[in-house]
Amino acid sequence: MKIHEYQGKELLKRFGVVVPRGFFCQSVDDAVKAAQALGGKVWVVKAQIHAGGRGKGGGVKVAKSLDEVRQYAQQILGMQLVTHQTGPEGQKVRRLLIEEGADIRKEYYVAVLTDRRTQKVAVMASSEGGMDIEEVAHSTPEKIITVFVDPADGLSDAQATGLASGIGIPAASQAKAVTALKGLYACYMETDAALAEINPLILEGNGDIKALDAKFNFDDNALYRIPEIFAFRDLDEEDPNEIEASKFGLAYISLDGNIGCLVNGAGLAMATMDVIKLFGGEPANFLDVGGGATTEKVTEAFKIMLKNTNVKGILVNIFGGIMKCDTIANGVIAAVRETHLNVPLVVRMKGTNEELGTKLLKESGLPIISADTMADAAAKIVAAVQ
Ligand code: ADP
Ligand code: MG
Repeated sequence: MKIHEYQGKELLKRFGVVVPRGFFCQSVDDAVKAAQALGGKVWVVKAQIHAGGRGKGGGVKVAKSLDEVRQYAQQILGMQLVTHQTGPEGQKVRRLLIEEGADIRKEYYVAVLTDRRTQKVAVMASSEGGMDIEEVAHSTPEKIITVFVDPADGLSDAQATGLASGIGIPAASQAKAVTALKGLYACYMETDAALAEINPLILEGNGDIKALDAKFNFDDNALYRIPEIFAFRDLDEEDPNEIEASKFGLAYISLDGNIGCLVNGAGLAMATMDVIKLFGGEPANFLDVGGGATTEKVTEAFKIMLKNTNVKGILVNIFGGIMKCDTIANGVIAAVRETHLNVPLVVRMKGTNEELGTKLLKESGLPIISADTMADAAAKIVAAVQ
């Protein structure tokens, strides 16, 4: 799960990371009131969407008068903001953060993330803040430094100081940078984050260190134990099909291809997507119907897959263990009838009551293509959508 910048800053503040003063608002009038309450002479109007690159896309504007605050808030609220992370259709802006303008002397990049290779926590820092870190990693990787932290030990003062001096933070501000880094690390650990990123972390004219942006990613499977993070969820920012799927206990992720996949078990779902690609096709989604796939669940799964107009065919790949193949067959038949399915459907079932399931499909009179092996199934669906 992702959260908004203003929520991320709220979290960072709790862990001692200094952030600009600011207010979250949802209307132009409130934006002007927020600027008035903040005082000062420079404000920044910031679109709140779950994607980065807002500055380049026109979603972050520096205002030098209350009139400009009004003008920018009007411009940004309701706009369809396109960034390199939103896709070409962009994301509608419904929320703003109005904050005090910072006196930026230099922008840095810092992030804490899970490194699966070393099974440690990686703390990354770079002198090249404010820009796309993927680009820095690609063209000037030597400008990113990383330390690996054993979660049992935590981030030490020596490591944090090494990072701060390594990216060129002036000696007089290093202690403040260490506080920010340790705060970011603690925040990452305490909230079960998978990524906690500040880009840019800035050095101000007076030597202060501040987080001007905040990006978090949380492990969905850990959210149940941190209700206060879960409360940050913003359904406006999520794929409506994924929300619908989660209501029925289906694990569904939209993808770009044209072959809908309905599979039981995450491992089999991934293997199925791999095989589709191996045979030259592209999956339209990841969909794990889980253990107890009832007729109702399978029907919902079909409906959700078919909402995606790119879907030109469906592959059902089921391993019948506890879940019996005849149950799935009945579910598939009901779903095909209810959704008036008009794209090719390939079904492969293995395991408990396999023969009974296959017989039900055959006797249904529906144009269902049966497949034996995974390779057979993938070849058939790829051919059918071409
Ligand atoms: P994004 O990463 O989505 O583009 P940021 O929050 O990083 O959004 O903002 C983009 C740029 O705008 C920053 O790199 C910084 O230069 C400037 N900026 C953001 N917030 C402020 C602020 N409060 N004061 C001054 N400049 C800011
Ligand atoms: Mg940023």
